[in-house]
Parts: sequence; C-alpha cells; structure tokens
Amino acid sequence: MSLGDNYHRVLESIAAACAKSGRAAGDVHLIAVSKTHPVAAVDAIAALGQVDFAENRIAELADKKQSAAAKGIRWHLIGQLQTNKVKLLDADVLLHSLDRISLADKLDQRFAALGQKVQALIQVNCSREPNKSGVALADFDALVGRLASAKNIEIKGLMTMAENSTDEKTIRSAFAELRELSHKLAARRVFSAYAGMLSMGMSGDFEYAIAEGATHVRIGSAIFGSR
Ligand SMILES: *Cc1c(COP(=O)(O)O)cnc(C)c1O
Repeated sequence: MSLGDNYHRVLESIAAACAKSGRAAGDVHLIAVSKTHPVAAVDAIAALGQVDFAENRIAELADKKQSAAAKGIRWHLIGQLQTNKVKLLDADVLLHSLDRISLADKLDQRFAALGQKVQALIQVNCSREPNKSGVALADFDALVGRLASAKNIEIKGLMTMAENSTDEKTIRSAFAELRELSHKLAARRVFSAYAGMLSMGMSGDFEYAIAEGATHVRIGSAIFGSR
C-alpha cells in the first residue's frame, strides 16, 4: 500500500462515517499525524491536497515546519507542551493540548510579549485514566476560569483521547462527554472566539468519534504506517 492509497482510504472512511451519522462530509476535518515520519512523507501527503498536519513534539514540529516543501501547511501540536518550550511555539500553530494553569500562564505571558494571540484547545481527560494527559474533569472549571482572563489565548474548542479499549460503549462515552462539555462551555459564552472545535478520534477510533460529533480527527498510522 502506498501512502497515497492509505490517505485516500482514510478520506473515504471519514466520508462513510459522516454519511452513516447523517453529517456532511465537510463537517469533519482530517489532521494527518506525521510524528516520527520523515518530512518527505509530509510532502507526499501535502502534494495530494492535505493541509492540516500534527506532531506531538514541538521540536519535531518546528523542524518539519521549516523543512517541508509545501508552504500552505497548517500545523497542530497535539502532545504535551513543557512550559520551558513555549518559546518554540509559533502563533500560527494550533495547540490541542492546553491542559493546565501553569501552561496557560506561560502562553499568555509569551504571546502578550510578542503582541500576538495563540489559538488553543483545552485537552480534557475524559477517560479518567490516571496516567492520561489532559485536565481532570474536576479541574476543568478552574482552568477555564484562568483562561477567561488570558487576553493572548483564544480557546477554540476541546480535545480528548479515548481509552485504549476495544469496547465501543467505553470509547463513545468519552467522546460524548467531551461534546457535552463543549456544549455547556459554549452556552456560558466565556470565550468570545469559541468555535466548538472537537478534536477527537485517532486511527483506531475515529469512526466512533465522528458519530459523537468530532470536527477534527487526528490520524497517524492509518496514513503513514506504524511507528
Ligand atoms: C499519535 C497521536 C495520534 C494519532 O494516532 P494514530 O493511532 O497513529 O492514528 C492522535 N492523537 C494524539 C494525541 C497522538 O499523540
């Protein structure tokens, strides 16, 4: 299977999952997760028209952002960001993993100094696994409270990872929980730029995520192969 075949098969599966849940195909955006794969793989998929790419490490993202031949790429950071690496984050990268107050503080400070705004999603630990990243549900309101006064961070939506499970009900309940949390947050009108983005679903569970309302799916291995 070539990269192009993989890519087109993923696009078809996304379209099929949209049709199955009565959603328009354009409602769900594919983010190609290129982590650990060479920039040549990014260029190959970008040449097929793919615009959104994600990395889980900021240093690797910065490298690929600089060396990719395709210039119109929209980059996403989907892994944990250490506060001492905030300086590597550019304002045109969408951060999916804003998960704690200390990171919000650093981001707000950094982008205020630059006179820029950074766009971010709040990552929530909906699966409640203790070793999973994302803000705990119990700490969500406190983080939202801090972000409400962060003038240089625009919160656009929420992100989660489901439990690594084969049980449909378990996986879908995490995605459904993120959707409900987002609806409640939107109704509170805390963030003026809030766009209801729901970043959820990976190679193994994106069909369930689409059924539960995902607007952005993050797919790596189904396109680029195993890592
Ligand atoms: C690696 C990664 C993905 C993609 O995982 P695949 O199973 O390869 O599709 C999605 N989201 C996050 C946060 C990741 O770290």
